[in-house]
Amino acid sequence: MRQHIFEPTILHHEPTPIPDKQNPFESMMARFDVAAEMLELEPGLYNYLKSPTKQVIVSIPIQMDNGAIDIFEGYRVVHNDILGPSKGGIRYAPDVTLEEVKALAAWMTWKCAVMNIPFGGAKGAVKCDPSKLTQIELEKITRRYTANLLDIFGPDRDIPAPDLNTNEQIMAWIMDTYSMHMKKTETAVVTGKPLILGGSLGRREATGRGCMVVTLTAMEKLRIKPRGATVAVQGFGNVGSVAANLLHEQGCKIVSISDISASYYNVKGINISRAIEWVNKHKLLDGFTGAEKIPQETLLELECDVLVPAAREEQITVQNAPRIKAKIICEGANGPTAAAADPILVEKGVLVIPDILANAGGVTVSYFEWVQDRIGYFWTLDRINRRLERMMRQSFDAVYEAAQKYKVTLRIGAYIIAIDKVAKTLKVRGIYA
Ligand code: GLU
Repeated sequence: MRQHIFEPTILHHEPTPIPDKQNPFESMMARFDVAAEMLELEPGLYNYLKSPTKQVIVSIPIQMDNGAIDIFEGYRVVHNDILGPSKGGIRYAPDVTLEEVKALAAWMTWKCAVMNIPFGGAKGAVKCDPSKLTQIELEKITRRYTANLLDIFGPDRDIPAPDLNTNEQIMAWIMDTYSMHMKKTETAVVTGKPLILGGSLGRREATGRGCMVVTLTAMEKLRIKPRGATVAVQGFGNVGSVAANLLHEQGCKIVSISDISASYYNVKGINISRAIEWVNKHKLLDGFTGAEKIPQETLLELECDVLVPAAREEQITVQNAPRIKAKIICEGANGPTAAAADPILVEKGVLVIPDILANAGGVTVSYFEWVQDRIGYFWTLDRINRRLERMMRQSFDAVYEAAQKYKVTLRIGAYIIAIDKVAKTLKVRGIYA
C-alpha cells in the first residue's frame, strides 16, 4: 500500500544529518531540507527561513514559599514574523532546552502557513517542574517570565498560548501582568484564556477536535469506516484525551490509551469518559480499572487502524517504526516522529498526518480567539467548530494535493506549502536594509 512515495532528492545545500536520536531542531531541518530542495529554494532564502528571528533567554528569580530564592531559566524564540505577529505556546518542563524551543517555534511558523492563518511562529518555555511547585510559586514564575518579555509580547507582536503543562490560569496571569504594565486591559495579548477573560468557546478542545477531523478525512481516503475502527492514543492530556473522546463519539473503538504514568489496553474498547473522570480525580491514569495495563512501549506497536501520538517529541524512532502496525498516524504532538523514522513508515505504507497539519486545530481556534478579542464580539460554539472543521479539511486537501503533485509524503507536502508561502511573502516584502 505504498500510496505516498518518498523520492530521495539531490540536495544542493549541505544536508542536515539524520542520526537516529536527533535534537528536534535537526529533525525539523531534515524535513525542511527536502521540501526546500523540491521548491528549488534559493540559498539566501533557505538561510533566512532556517534562522530564528529572535532567541531570548531570561533569568527568573523567585522567592519560594519556604523563603529561599530559586532561579529559573525561561526562553522565548520568535522563529519568524513574516506572515504576521508571531504565535505559539509556552511550555513548562524540567528538561526543556533552547534547541527544543527553536524547533517548536519553527513548527509554529509552518503550522500557521499550512493553515492560512496570518501569524508567524514562536514558542516559549520555562525550565521547571510544575508538579513540584505551589500555585503561588507558579504564579510568581509566570508573572516574572511575562514581565521579562514585555518588549517581545503584544497583540500585534507576539502572542503566547498554552502548551505542555500550561493552562488557562497561567494565560490569565500572563494577560493580567501584561495589562498592568500597559495600563489597560489587553485581552488579545494571549490566547487559551479562561472564557470569562475573553477566551473562546471551543479553544480547549480545539487541538483534539482538529485531530479528529483530519483523522476522519484520512480514513475517507483509505476507505476505512470510523465505526469500529481501532485507535491507540499516546498521551492523555488536553490533546490525547479530547481526540480519544471525539473519535469515540464518531464510532471508533479506542483500544489503548496512556500517559506518563501507565498504558492501558482493552480489545473491546476503553470507556473514555470513565478514563477522563479517573484522571480528573487522580491526576494520572495509573490505577485505572477499565482496561488491562500494558508496558509503555507496547502502545505504539499495537495492531490498530489509527495511532495518535499526542505526548512529546521523538517517540517514533528507527527502533520501533518497523514494528508499527497502524494504517494512519495522526501526530497530535509536535515532532513525535524522528526524521530517520519517516522512510520506514513510508516503506510500510503508513499514512502519516504530519504534526504541522494534524495538531493545528489549537492555533486555529487561538486565531479565532484573537480575532474575537479584537472585534469585541464573541461567536457561538457551533460557528467556531464549523469554521475549524472547514479550515482543517481545506488544509488537509491542499497538503494531499501537494503530496500527489510532488510525489512525496503528506509531511513533505505540508512543508512545501508552508515554505513556499512564507518564501513568497518574504520576497514581496523584501529585505529591509
Ligand atoms: N501550543 C499549541 C501548538 O503547539 C497552540 C499554540 C497557539 O495556540 O498559539 O500548536
